[in-house]
Amino acid sequence: MSLVSDTLPYLDSSLTTAERVTDLLARMTLEEKIGQMLQLDARGDLDDAVLRRHVGSILHTSPERIVQANELTARTRLRIPLLVAEDCIHGHSFWPGATIFPTQLGLAASWDAELLERVARVTAVEVAATGIHWTFSPVLCIARDLRWGRVNETFGEDPFLIGELAAAMVRGYQGSGLADETAILATAKHFAGYSETQGGRDASEADISRRKLRSWFLPPFEKVAREGCRTFMLGYQSMDGVPITVNEWLLTDVLKGEWGYTGTLVTDWDNVGRMVWEQHVQPDDTHAAAAAVRAGNDMIMTTPRFFEGALEAVRSGMLPPDAFDDAVARNLTLKFDLGLFENPRLPQPGLEKIVGAPAHATLNLEAARRSIVLLENDGTLPLPPRAASIAVVGPLADDAQFQLGDWAGGSGQVDWLDAQPRELITTVLDGIRDLAPAGSTITHVRGADILTMQPDPAGATFPDGQPRPPIVHPCLPDEAMIAEAVQAATAADVVVAVVGDHIELVGEGRSTATLELIGGQNALLDALIATGTPVVVVLLASKPLVLPTSVHAAAGVLWIANPGMQGGRALAEILFGEVEPAGRLPISFARHAGQLPVYYNRVRGQHGDRYADLTQSPTWAFGQGRSYTTVEYTDLVLARTEVAVTDALVAEVTVRNTGTRPVRETVQLYVRDEITSVSWAEKELKAYRQVDVAPGASARVRIELPVAECTIVDAAGRRVVEPGAFHALVGASSRDEDLLAAEFTVTG
Ligand code: BGC
Repeated sequence: MSLVSDTLPYLDSSLTTAERVTDLLARMTLEEKIGQMLQLDARGDLDDAVLRRHVGSILHTSPERIVQANELTARTRLRIPLLVAEDCIHGHSFWPGATIFPTQLGLAASWDAELLERVARVTAVEVAATGIHWTFSPVLCIARDLRWGRVNETFGEDPFLIGELAAAMVRGYQGSGLADETAILATAKHFAGYSETQGGRDASEADISRRKLRSWFLPPFEKVAREGCRTFMLGYQSMDGVPITVNEWLLTDVLKGEWGYTGTLVTDWDNVGRMVWEQHVQPDDTHAAAAAVRAGNDMIMTTPRFFEGALEAVRSGMLPPDAFDDAVARNLTLKFDLGLFENPRLPQPGLEKIVGAPAHATLNLEAARRSIVLLENDGTLPLPPRAASIAVVGPLADDAQFQLGDWAGGSGQVDWLDAQPRELITTVLDGIRDLAPAGSTITHVRGADILTMQPDPAGATFPDGQPRPPIVHPCLPDEAMIAEAVQAATAADVVVAVVGDHIELVGEGRSTATLELIGGQNALLDALIATGTPVVVVLLASKPLVLPTSVHAAAGVLWIANPGMQGGRALAEILFGEVEPAGRLPISFARHAGQLPVYYNRVRGQHGDRYADLTQSPTWAFGQGRSYTTVEYTDLVLARTEVAVTDALVAEVTVRNTGTRPVRETVQLYVRDEITSVSWAEKELKAYRQVDVAPGASARVRIELPVAECTIVDAAGRRVVEPGAFHALVGASSRDEDLLAAEFTVTG
């Protein structure tokens, strides 16, 4: 087999991408085209993947294997470079020493799109330097069932906030355009409705109507599709019996038709194989491959048998030989636009100066500060600037790797990295030790264990050969550990108790049935709070959890999601008042798992508004978060109260800092449509502004909202503005008591 000459048109970078794609496509064999649609796990047999199956892309590759894979492509007939993909979802997750930011849910608590764009940009700079071209981020799933193991990967519960933050991350990853060598491909995932699981069970059938999809689940995806996100990943689940992978309505009619999307569609992990062995909707690999191609999938993730299946589909007449051309053209377009034929973008010499650079750590610290949400404070915080005796208690106070969360070094998702370097991470204990006023005494006591792991009695592997994770066994409270913690607490001026979940309770296939703190943690908190020493509870948890009732008497509560490498320092800065807490909840906290779903924008209409045995109100609602000062909202005024659909609604409100410390306030605008032709949400977030207000000062905050955004989805599934009475609700959170209301009318 002779290699192609360097003078062929597709190798000529002065031609347009379209010209090069046409030329290359015409030279490809059927096998090469089918292979170009395959993305295989680089941990497998690379020779087989590149030389025999002609793969277009690899994922989960260790640094060494990127180079090996590239050497193999140089031996192929057409020398088509590989697209190298990875889940760099809050930093370059699996690269030793990379900057690991707070999880997406933590970042969402900043409500700061500009900050997230910078986080994604820095991530892209690190990722691109290491020879990776494509990140499977951001996640646009709406988190409504808190039992789901992947809540941490989302931006929370609100479609508008998700759209704003996702678009910012896409801009950050893709930078000024793919020709820029620091740009990487972004992926909007998991299209669509994957999070709407049953019972929180991962990837179960989503019971979701097309109208409901159009109402809440699709808008964030539509936004990033229209703004140029280059790839979309399809969810695992089926809806109305149809797996997303072959959902013609969603892929063809909506995504490519209505939204005009021309990017690449990648399946999720073995979606094509799962139609055979898991969902039983295709009899064999040949039918599954044919169905996936017909439905418009471009890149088939980790279904090696797609290669044989697709070949057989052509041989047996199920697919015409040119059935792959559109998909291959789309995949090649990405490669030409990235300039990979000229420069395969291998790991760069000197990359260690780029990955984990000090400037990136500085941004990470800023992101961590902004991700922290102060939920309760009886005035104990900030801690006074004088020497004190501080007991730092709890199983998570010094757990460096869990602090990074899922999709990070210690999460066990790849085999070449067990952990990120400890010295790059400041835990809560480190942060407090570093920042406590001179002369302070810091004691550290674990106080409780969380869980142990045992093999799953169902067997060591799933049907596709992937390992079944071991199962969680909560530890029992340990009297001796608690006694030691109580002793430390009694002797201290203040206790910082760091509790939460743990990596074994987080991620794919790791949904939880309960939301309580497990192991000895509740007993530990009860005992600490009973000492009478002020206890500041730090909830280091991947998702909203339920705290024990004793916490009502805690001095303060903070939620720090998984705050990344700088999380401990950021938390300590807030505890000691060096930084003001500014995070706001992107997701509501249930009081009990039985309240689920508990999101704020629920549809109107039910008998009553509570359970017989419990309120329906969440512990902390979407948008909530405190600062170290007090803020008053007054004088909500609309510039005009009669507006047409083509107008902008202009709201102004006065935000006064009535306390003694500065505040960054997140001023939220919700809209309530009073009478709708179909049942609709009581209120929906439509806009927000962040404003810094000095102690004693006021700001007049102006928010403009195109009236065209005041839509509902009608019974026929059309997004429309229905003229009539509305309310603009402006304030500090989604709770009614935090909102001022002003009426307006949309004229017909
Ligand atoms: C997950 C995706 C991820 C992919 C590749 C899947 O199991 O659902 O979110 O991007 O694996 O790692």
